[in-house]
Amino acid sequence: MFIEPRGGHGRDVPRRGWIEVVCGSMFSGKTEELIRRLKRAKIARQRVEIFKPALDTRYHVEDVVSHNANSIRSTPVALAQEMLLLAAGSDVVGIDEAQFFDESLIDVCVQLANRGTRVIVAGLDMDFQGQPFGPMPALMAVAEFVTKVHAVCVCCGEIASYSFRVSASEDKILLGETDAYEARCRPCFLAGMQEKAILEATERSKH
Ligand SMILES: [Zn+2]
Repeated sequence: MFIEPRGGHGRDVPRRGWIEVVCGSMFSGKTEELIRRLKRAKIARQRVEIFKPALDTRYHVEDVVSHNANSIRSTPVALAQEMLLLAAGSDVVGIDEAQFFDESLIDVCVQLANRGTRVIVAGLDMDFQGQPFGPMPALMAVAEFVTKVHAVCVCCGEIASYSFRVSASEDKILLGETDAYEARCRPCFLAGMQEKAILEATERSKH
């Protein structure tokens, strides 16, 4: 389990910032892990601010809500840059669903960490096609700490790191539809993608 560094908050020590990334597939417990770390920071009497992309409108607008309803209030932002102003005076900044921000999130996180803020970023590392998702790979590169959490494959019970889309939609952002996804391990993800490809090919040959 991740134990946070002390962060140099003592006397005579300049405030130390850093970046943590919590990544994984859907149903892997990313948001739960983000919330766990933020609650510990609150216990340590640190000023905590939580953000998420404004487009993620599942459940409540103002809360980071994980699938087990263990939630913390958050602020939706349209642009990553807004966090630079909104997070002024915070010791710890949490960012949920980070994969939906554009590449400017990387520079925003670096700036926050450089000015002494602890930044905890949670997001999907891969999209439903198994490709690295948005700013996540670069964030993992610049972070001091990277934690990859895993789900359980619904097909075989192995450890899962892929989000398999059950529905046919090709839209990368399919929100509020966790039913449309399954956590799968590598072989079961590959088998599912092959099945889909065969189905699509037969559909095309009918027209
Ligand atoms: Zn499997």
